[in-house]
Order: sequence, then C-alpha cells, then structure tokens
Amino acid sequence: MRICRFNGDRLGVVDKDEVVDVTAVLDALPAQRYPLPQHDLFIAALPRLRPLLQQAMQAGVRHPVGAVRFASPVANPGKIIGAPINYEAHAAESKANQAIAHGRNVTSIADWGLFLKAGSSLVGCDQDIVLRFPDRRNDHEVELGVVIGSTCHRVRREDAMAHVAGYTVALDMTLRGTEFQCFRKSIDSYSVLGPWMVTADEIADPNQLDLWITVNGEMRQQSNTRHLVYDIARLIEFASSFYTLEPGDVIMTGTPEGVGPVRPGDLLEAGVAQVGSFKIRIAPHYGDALPAA
Ligand code: MN
Repeated sequence: MRICRFNGDRLGVVDKDEVVDVTAVLDALPAQRYPLPQHDLFIAALPRLRPLLQQAMQAGVRHPVGAVRFASPVANPGKIIGAPINYEAHAAESKANQAIAHGRNVTSIADWGLFLKAGSSLVGCDQDIVLRFPDRRNDHEVELGVVIGSTCHRVRREDAMAHVAGYTVALDMTLRGTEFQCFRKSIDSYSVLGPWMVTADEIADPNQLDLWITVNGEMRQQSNTRHLVYDIARLIEFASSFYTLEPGDVIMTGTPEGVGPVRPGDLLEAGVAQVGSFKIRIAPHYGDALPAA
C-alpha cells in the first residue's frame, strides 16, 4: 500500500495513478491528552488501520496523482536518523575532496556512528527547499528512507526488518562545512520525504533498489542500495543499540557518490525504484535575507 499526506493535512492511499482521500480514517486514532507521545500516532496505529484504509478507498474522493501536493508521508517522526559515509564510493569522494570533508578524517560509519536531524527541518515535496548561506556549498544527497513501524531497542539484525513500516524517498540536504552534521543538516527544509510511503510488504528486497537524483534534468547520483556499507537491518541494529526506535522514526540510510551543489531556482527530481519519485524546487532566493521592512 502507498500511503500519503496531501493538500495540507489530507490522508491518502495511492491507487495506480490516483490518490484516494481516506482522511476520515484518522478519526480512528486514539484521542490523546497532553503530553503527546514522542512517536508518530498514525504510523503506530497503521497495522490496526489498514483494513479501515482499504474500506475507505471504496468511497473516497479520487484525485489524479499529478493534481495533488504531497506533504511528508510521516507527519511527526520522533527522530530523523542520518547514516554518514554509508556507501564506499561516497566515502571515497569525501576523502578526496576537502569541499566535502572540511578537514574531517573520513573513516567509516562504524567509527562515526549515526546523527540526528531536527524535526523542524522536515518538509514534503509540496514545499521549496530554502537554501541558506550563499557563500557556502549546499549539496543534494538522495537516500532511501526507512520508516520504523514498531518500538524496538537493542534489536538484532536478524529480527530488525520486522520493525519496518515502509519506505520513502529521502533527501538529506547538506550545508558543507566544519560544524557537526546534526547542525549543518538540520536547517529548515533540509530534510525531505516523499512522495509517499510504500509499506514494507510491497518491497521484496530493499537492499536491491536503484536510486537516483537529477538536477535540472542532469543525472547527478545514480546507484543501488546493494552498495550500502551497513544494510537496512544492520542500520536498525546499530541505531537501536543506542536509541529506542519508535513508530514513525525515519532512518535516512546514506547517500551514494555524486553529491554536488544546488542553487536557488534548481529543480530536483529524486527517486527510488519500487518506491516512487518526486520533483522539488530549490526556492528562487536564499533564506538569509531579512524580510523587507
Ligand atoms: Mn546523508
């Protein structure tokens, strides 16, 4: 099942080339009182909601896929987890290029560990990416996004895949520089998920998926998740050896070689085979200028 959020806060199921509005199913979510849980309520309830989604599809209003605006398929991820240097060829290009490495000793994901991106950085492809710091390099990083479906802590890799709700296309936009990743990659709009989440049952082997990104029609990154250093199960094992993973947490699994700069006005198109693809615009102006008085 391909599940999306669209046109603001609508909930949808993608059926071939149409989005079926199933927003009414959200009424089945448990009423919550303050303080809210730290996980995503919808993803946590998804196993129970799936029959309701099927039912709601029968009568739901249909829109052509091309006529809706897709928000992030996960509304409230408790954590957005990044995986640095998780493709050998990207580690190699980083080592060879100080415009990427900025003096860091590029070793391995085992050595560096993971990092967290701020929730406030998350957008869907219905919004522009607003670049900051015109005098510095801002790069695209296309990645497979893994959405966690159930709580797990210190899970073994052989048990890890049972905790995956689904997959999405992710952009881990990056300001290059000397600061820690958690800071540089957490600028508003620098985490993109879309256009929808494909549930895990539809992807036979997520460690065998082509992924790519074009900028203004030019291919920039093109690889396959078979080249991941830590595959998805190992990433879940590694992440959960430090954090409890919760429903709606997103793991951006790392970017292949070919990272490069983007500029205001660029049009990006990013995709993962069997998952989907989206176009997203880089806003025409940097976000640094103060609003006119
Ligand atoms: Mn990345």
